[in-house]
This record gives sequence, C-alpha cells and structure tokens, in this order.
Amino acid sequence: MRAWSRAERAKGRRIGFVPTMGSLHEGHLRLVDRARDHADRVVLSVFVNPLQFGPQEDFERYPRSLADDRRLAAEREVDCLFVPETAAMHAAEPLVRVSPGPTAETLEGAARPGHFAGVLTVVAKLFHIVEPDLAVFGRKDYQQAVLVRQMVRDLDFPVEIDVAPTVRELDGLALSSRNAFLDPDQRRAALALSRALRAVEQAWRGGESNPVVLERRGMEVLRIPGVTPEYLAIVGEAVRPVKQADARAVVVIAARVGATRLIDNVVLGEGVAGDVAVGGRA
Ligand code: AMP
Repeated sequence: MRAWSRAERAKGRRIGFVPTMGSLHEGHLRLVDRARDHADRVVLSVFVNPLQFGPQEDFERYPRSLADDRRLAAEREVDCLFVPETAAMHAAEPLVRVSPGPTAETLEGAARPGHFAGVLTVVAKLFHIVEPDLAVFGRKDYQQAVLVRQMVRDLDFPVEIDVAPTVRELDGLALSSRNAFLDPDQRRAALALSRALRAVEQAWRGGESNPVVLERRGMEVLRIPGVTPEYLAIVGEAVRPVKQADARAVVVIAARVGATRLIDNVVLGEGVAGDVAVGGRA
C-alpha cells in the first residue's frame, strides 16, 4: 500500500483517503467524491477494526459485504481499494495505543469505553500506511471527526482533514451500515432520531436557545415505543456542553432501536435540510 502511495506521490499526485468499515453506502461514496474533488488519486480502505468494538458489542455481526464494496468502489472510480487482513493490521493485541484525551470521555466515549482509543489508533496506523495528503470523514460520526482533527493537530500528522455533511434517505434516516439490521417496524421507529433533531432545530429557530429546554423538546420526540434513547445533548466546540445554543452548536443523539445502536446529529445553523438527501424513501 505504502509503495503504491509513494510511487503516485513521486509523480506529483495528491492522495485522498477515505477510511471505512465497509458495507458501503451512498454516505461513504460521497466521501469518495469529495476526496476526488480535492486529490488526484483516491484510496478507500475497508477494515472492520476490532479495537474500536467493546467486548459486548457487534464486531462479529457487523455487516460485511466485500463483493458489493468492490463493485461500488470500482463504479465510483476509486483508484485503490485497501482491504487489510485483521492479522496484518494487528499482529497481536497492540501494546501501544493513541490516548484520545478529554474529548473522548463524554457521549460516545462514555457509552463505549475504549472506543475512541481504538478508532484513533487504527486511523493513525492507516495514515502511516497510506500516507495521504487529505483524508475525508463524515459528520455523521461527529465526535469522531472532532477527535481525528485533534489527533492530527496535536501529533503533527501531515494530513489535511475534510469533514463531509451527513447523507440521509429522503425521509431523514441517516445512512448507516447498521441500518441493515433494522426490520420494517424498526426502520420506521428509527425515524425518531432525525425527527428529534428536526424538533430541536425548529424550537431553536423559533427563538429558544436554552439547551436544557431544547434537549427536553428533543427527548419528547425521541422517546417513542421501540426506541431507547441513550443521550441527546447540545454541544459546542470540542464537543463540550454549551450554555446557549448558537448556529454552530450541534445536537447529538444516540439511541437503541431493538438491538441496534444508532447515532445522528445536526448542526443547528445548517439544519437537517442542509444535509444531503438521497435514495427512494419519502
Ligand atoms: P464507517 O464505515 O461507519 O466507519 O464510516 C466510514 C466513514 O463514513 C466515516 O467517516 C463516517 O463518518 C462516514 N459516514 C458514515 N455514514 C455516513 C453518512 N450517512 N453520511 C456521511 N458520512 C457517513
């Protein structure tokens, strides 16, 4: 992988990189488009990273569809599809990991101990292997994108980070590989996440800026039969709680629908309508 990247860069080509866990959907593919817009060659990695799953989480059952991924990557003109074997990435239980710091202690980090150390460790490894000039991440994983930016800044990775808006189905559901686990009733119930984001956004546009009031409004919409909310919070820079919600504040949600854990978020000033809508469901 590194030899390929170095050969391309020796020809003066800029490398764009999109790391994923596969089971590719349009959300991933829009990241590929963005990488292509800002680079000459696009590398897409597919690696279900065991380090970022807790012992009780869904590593074993995480959806895997490499044949489809290969086809989709080829259709989207990915120049290099990098699919490392688990044993090649982590020869043994790694002894050294990236310490993600305070931003990893709340929300997703609190719900999933060790998750962000696992994410940042594999992102650091992939950056060393691929040596990209640019890497594209999705805002769908908001806290992850903030942490990747912090790692790159604090550890001086020579990689530019681009964060792309969330891609949703027409009815608002954010695309996720885990949506494949949802049966039709759960698929319907899962709309509570984007509806709750919209409800908060509307209340904010109506003049409400008290995060406690906004969070309560969102929870009313999120708490429906079939959905178990984990958190709904309004955060500012570095994923910290805000005293007043302004246009840059982000509403972040995690909830379980059946056994499937879903996350979503919206930047208040951009709104759910500011995200990218695709697909056939309205
Ligand atoms: P994953 O395969 O879930 O680890 O995601 C790989 C990358 O795709 C991450 O940067 C995610 O934030 C991004 N991504 C996943 N779902 C979406 C989506 N619906 N819209 C935009 N980006 C996404």
